Amino acid sequence: MPKPSDLTYKINIALSSKKLPSLLIELLLVFTVCLSVLSSFTVSADSIDIPEFTQGSLGKHTQYFREVDGKMSLESALTAFQSDSLFHGSTNSISLGIDVAPVWMRFTINNRSTQTLNYRLSVETPWIDYIDTWLIQDGEMVRHIIGGDAYPFESRPMQYRFYAFEHEFLAGKTEVIMRVETKGPMALPVQFSSVEQAIHRDIASGYQYGALYGIMLALALYNLVLFGFIRQREYGLYGLYLLGFVLNSLSYTGQLHTIITYDFGAYFQDWLDIFLMITYSVAGLHFARALLHTKDYAPKLDRFVLRTTLYIPLGMLVGFVFNHLFFSMILAFVLNTCFVMLFIAMGVKALQAQKPFAVIFILSSVTAAVCITISTLAVAGVLVPYNDYTFKAIEVGMAFEAILLASILARQFRMAQIDKLIAEKYACTDPLTELNNRRGFKEFTESKWQEIVEAQHNVSIALIDIDYFKQVNDTHGHNIGDEVLKLVAKAIADSCRDGDIAARWGGEEFIVLLPNTSRDGAIMQAEHIREAIESISFDTLNGELTLTASIGVAGTVAGKFELSSIHQGTLEALIKNADRALYIAKQDGKNQVRIVS
Ligand code: GH3
Ligand code: MG
Ligand code: MG
Repeated sequence: MPKPSDLTYKINIALSSKKLPSLLIELLLVFTVCLSVLSSFTVSADSIDIPEFTQGSLGKHTQYFREVDGKMSLESALTAFQSDSLFHGSTNSISLGIDVAPVWMRFTINNRSTQTLNYRLSVETPWIDYIDTWLIQDGEMVRHIIGGDAYPFESRPMQYRFYAFEHEFLAGKTEVIMRVETKGPMALPVQFSSVEQAIHRDIASGYQYGALYGIMLALALYNLVLFGFIRQREYGLYGLYLLGFVLNSLSYTGQLHTIITYDFGAYFQDWLDIFLMITYSVAGLHFARALLHTKDYAPKLDRFVLRTTLYIPLGMLVGFVFNHLFFSMILAFVLNTCFVMLFIAMGVKALQAQKPFAVIFILSSVTAAVCITISTLAVAGVLVPYNDYTFKAIEVGMAFEAILLASILARQFRMAQIDKLIAEKYACTDPLTELNNRRGFKEFTESKWQEIVEAQHNVSIALIDIDYFKQVNDTHGHNIGDEVLKLVAKAIADSCRDGDIAARWGGEEFIVLLPNTSRDGAIMQAEHIREAIESISFDTLNGELTLTASIGVAGTVAGKFELSSIHQGTLEALIKNADRALYIAKQDGKNQVRIVS
């Protein structure tokens, strides 16, 4: 019987003993190791044939080594390139980490045509401090191009956001040697393209960034203006968050430094990058706190966010004071990693607390996190190919997030508006009968009264009081009393014409303002109401319940007020008269309409 191979044996054991996850991890590790070993042996640093090669990254065509024992000369570097201990790029972007020793790179351009060809070489991470490139043809150094953000903008080889130069490559082979030194992340996406292609890419990039920044800046300004007017913190913080992000993006894509062209020293850009990086993280986290009100239901997380956004920037300031870029940079990376995770954690907490918008918030922050990860991995040269799209994924993700967050703010705005309308309505409405309350009556009659008085039109008031209502409560209970009040209110509302304003005046007393109605018209209208109330019948456990009401009316005759209120001519005076009439109606046996005679 053939002996099973080790792997089949392991798989069988794993399946039977349910150790599958650990086996998978083991297999993955073996696979990764094989891949990296294979890639460093099989990928040769072949030459780049032009004009066939029109544009792309040179990572996979590059041999490199790290400088040890101090700065090397070109000669000793050339000797070192003859040795066997070289690395071969296996991805588009060679990435070696933060604050590492300078790197020497070599690749060969082979112009297979007979003419000279104009190509551009660029290192598309703008924070690299020093870059030296030597072009060697037939064993002779023909050009030395010095650049990097340690040099003033004007003295760089091209007035460009990245280190870049253009060169007329002669027919045959040109050896390119580069030395790169930086305190920041050593990520080296070296792009090589025909000048025509390079210009084409620049124009496309300009439009893409223009659109993305345009969206974000418009949203930022709009929200800052909103904050200026309505003073709600989340709008201001959201505006700052977007503004901070755009500035950060302008800084780490090198675009800001094409505007700020002064020489602020070797690490100016590095310091600016990391401080702008935390500005947007800090504003973003505080925005999330204000929007989601995390303090109310996740006080621990809220405190943690508060402390993170305080202590990390303070730590970075200390690093700045002692000019320790590495320390501050690590803190900035920690804060940015926290930023993404805290954003998602806050969204999850909000979802658990069933807060509105939690789902959209999570969706937006996860999208942003995925896009940020894609860009980071692309620049680091791991898993994700480095190209224009993966490099800009971070901006696309953030623009998407910005729009989703803006939609949350807009909906919040709308909800606040609806709440306000509801609150206003409730402040003027009697909750039991849904008629106006005294305040509502006052509010709606004020302007109407003014109009009537000015036009000298007729106007009347009817004051309605249910007879023996206390007995209804005493006999049938308060709940039935409430039901009766609702029915009476409905009867009054139903007998009102357009323009009449009815309200619950208090307890079992109601009022109706009757515009354009003389006292005689009002008496008829009040009679109508009295009959409507009289015809209410209500079945209760104690038998049928019927009601009557007494009504006092006061009003103008031919546009003139009654004698007693002629001097005042106010609504209050008219109501006082109706109240007196109501008193008379009660005195005279109730269930009748009366005026002051
Ligand atoms: P009259 O015929 O003289 O008007 O006598 P009345 O019993 O109707 O008037 P009185 O002012 O003596 O009593 C009014 C009662 O209305 C007393 C109070 O308990 C009752 N009441 C006031 N507001 C409400 C309410 O919202 N619901 C109920 N169920 N009863 C109310
Ligand atoms: Mg009463
Ligand atoms: Mg009463």
